[in-house]
Amino acid sequence: MLLYADKIEEMKTICWFCGKKAIMNLRFHDGKPVYEGEQIQMGGNESYYPVCRKHYYNPLIKQQSEENI
Ligand SMILES: [Zn+2]
Repeated sequence: MLLYADKIEEMKTICWFCGKKAIMNLRFHDGKPVYEGEQIQMGGNESYYPVCRKHYYNPLIKQQSEENI
């Protein structure tokens, strides 16, 4: 778990899409970006990705690969 946590910590620092410095986390629900809602729900189909300002408002949504999340 410690190694896994370290990896997440590192991932938070760069944009999921372009690799530049991430400044915020973009929430995805069922593969779509969510900009509304204050409540944070763990589990389900929600995912969080670190993104830069550009990709927060214009995420590059592609077909998801079958890689493990
Ligand atoms: Zn970016």
